[in-house]
Amino acid sequence: MYVVVDCPRCRGLFIKKLEWRSGTCPYCGCRVRLRPGAYRAFKSLGEARAFMVRMRGR
Ligand SMILES: [Zn+2]
Repeated sequence: MYVVVDCPRCRGLFIKKLEWRSGTCPYCGCRVRLRPGAYRAFKSLGEARAFMVRMRGR
């Protein structure tokens, strides 16, 4: 599983593998905890990337 995480500090989107319950934002270095509702999970990296592209396109 892959998750698209929405950083609460800089609103940056990044992709992580759903192995760890927290991650570090690659843009601002903020530690982001993966809470239910704070991320979107996808089965494949391709789906996660497609979702991220859609989010950025808005
Ligand atoms: Zn950030």
